[in-house]
Amino acid sequence: MNVAYGNIKDMELKWSGYTSTIEFNNDARPNYFSAPQNYFDRKTSSIWRAKQFHWHTKSEHTIEGSQYDLEIHVVHFTGDAVYQTAENNGGYAGAVLGFLFDVNNNNGDVEFRKTYVDPLFDSMELDKTGSYKPAEVKIGDFMNAVRNWNRWNYVGSLTTPPCSESINFNIITTVFPIRDTDLAKFKKI
Ligand SMILES: [Zn+2]
Repeated sequence: MNVAYGNIKDMELKWSGYTSTIEFNNDARPNYFSAPQNYFDRKTSSIWRAKQFHWHTKSEHTIEGSQYDLEIHVVHFTGDAVYQTAENNGGYAGAVLGFLFDVNNNNGDVEFRKTYVDPLFDSMELDKTGSYKPAEVKIGDFMNAVRNWNRWNYVGSLTTPPCSESINFNIITTVFPIRDTDLAKFKKI
């Protein structure tokens, strides 16, 4: 799988209620992944462009019965990254890349956490309240650095707005470590 993501800059954030999402700057970097093997199944573009990311605590997905502390979903659409229906897009309304994180991940890559995970969560400035504008949300640095893109793939629905059905889910099999102080911030939002 090929990936190319930029960080999110100059984006005003405000946390409210059940759902918190951060939009990508679609006019900046391409923010896409391509999975060529899907082309033949889908008979449409193999390029997925990121629209937004959001998260769930605990994880929505489990691995062999284990639930994890945090799951980030990066929601993608084809073309200009606008919301689409499955009917006009080869059977898929969109695609999600999912990343699992856990505090008690003793087998996790601590160096990777310090270099890419901690800076991402620091950059989100999650302890701010009201509306605020972080200098840069380092989601691109994190995604571009992921080394193992092995993933579970299935078709499901978004549980957060726009709650589209027929979403091509790709859950990365690596479980990343997260600091307990960061997890506490996610839980407070
Ligand atoms: Zn989600």
